[in-house]
Amino acid sequence: MAKKVLIIEDSVLVVKIIRHVVKLELEELQPLYAGSLKEAKEIFQQHSHDIYAALADLTLPDAVNGEVVDFLLQNTVPTIVLTASVDDCKREVLLGKGVVDYVIKESRFSYSYAVGLLNRLYRNKDIKVLVAEDSTSQRNFIMQRLAEHQFQTFAASNGIEALKQLVEHPDIKLLITDYHMPKMDGFELVKTIRHNINKSDLIIIGLSVQELNRGSLSAKFIKNGANDFLSKPFNHEEFNCRIKHNIESLELLEAIRYQANNDYLTGLPNRRCFFNNGEDIHKQAQKNQSALSAGIIDLDLFKRVNDDYGHNVGDKVLQFFSEQIKDYFADYILSLGRTGGEEFCILMPGLSSFEAGEFMDEFRQQLSEQSIFINEDTRLTVTFSCGISDDIGQSLDQQIGHADENLYRAKEAGRNQVVY
Ligand code: GH3
Ligand code: MG
Ligand code: MG
Ligand code: MG
Repeated sequence: MAKKVLIIEDSVLVVKIIRHVVKLELEELQPLYAGSLKEAKEIFQQHSHDIYAALADLTLPDAVNGEVVDFLLQNTVPTIVLTASVDDCKREVLLGKGVVDYVIKESRFSYSYAVGLLNRLYRNKDIKVLVAEDSTSQRNFIMQRLAEHQFQTFAASNGIEALKQLVEHPDIKLLITDYHMPKMDGFELVKTIRHNINKSDLIIIGLSVQELNRGSLSAKFIKNGANDFLSKPFNHEEFNCRIKHNIESLELLEAIRYQANNDYLTGLPNRRCFFNNGEDIHKQAQKNQSALSAGIIDLDLFKRVNDDYGHNVGDKVLQFFSEQIKDYFADYILSLGRTGGEEFCILMPGLSSFEAGEFMDEFRQQLSEQSIFINEDTRLTVTFSCGISDDIGQSLDQQIGHADENLYRAKEAGRNQVVY
């Protein structure tokens, strides 16, 4: 069941705007609305296990002093506060209590910001962050802030421990590291990490203090390979903004990388990506003198599908086929790509041409027996021809060339078959 966000606001006008923004911009979470603390408590009773976060007005008719925030935080609900105004004193109190952030009700954009934060919070739960800091109190402060923002957190008290954590959890996306630490300091740590992990795979934020006569640690952090730095002492908001900013850049990079490597229609690796990965696999097989089969698959008479049903249906069939082949080879595939319009390539390490051929032929049979639902009146089947070769030749290109000769034979012999 989809996770929910509890939105608590008494002003009818504000609720109207929020509903509008939520409809357009809230991604994964489902909204539940309450107009008072009483209502919020009732909804919370019913859905307590499904509520992921809350967006709450600080002043409600039955809770004029922000009691709703205390209620939510007592129930460990990550809370974003809506408020008409914030003075320095109120800000410190709110952030000190552990709210995620506060949003001042000024315009539609304030609500957009709040909804963006909710989306952010939901995505953060899948992001792993490592904190390397020898001071327990500082480390705890940072870990607490990160936990408020729903990140998965890991701790290290020196550089050596941090390296161990990174080996154990290679999917850590963000490292926040202090400079002064026993055993291995922050600079050494960053330098060591950057030998194998680049800036677009792991963000590093250095914590720096300005020290007299030592120049700026922040610049040194960046020169050693950190993405960014944060000067100590920092407050909640500086910290939050810096983390958010860096995570967003990383996601942007990941999106660009995905688009550059994957086909937009099927999500499969595109030709360039297939050959990039494939060449490594091919070299490995050459070096180890181990078996490697390459297959090239071409859908049969696909032009007819487009001619008879239109290009959109053709696209759906390509998507269907991609899902099927991904599922079928799920446990096995190291490399599969859409290398042309209705042409796909696959590498099967460890399999002889006979084994790979039999494996593929089972998939061919299975696919030819399935009907693809297009709409109430239209169901169709699709078949493919495939050529396979385990003659690895001088290069991946050459091996695929051998497989292509077999594909040609399969087409010549009447299609819907695998030649190996
Ligand atoms: P054969 O069995 O000999 O391979 O016949 P075929 O019709 O599949 O081969 P042909 O190469 O003549 O036609 C391939 C067709 O695939 C032509 C092209 O319009 C279609 N096609 C290629 N890419 C796409 C795509 O992204 N979407 C759709 N809908 N069609 C595509
Ligand atoms: Mg109010
Ligand atoms: Mg074809
Ligand atoms: Mg073709």
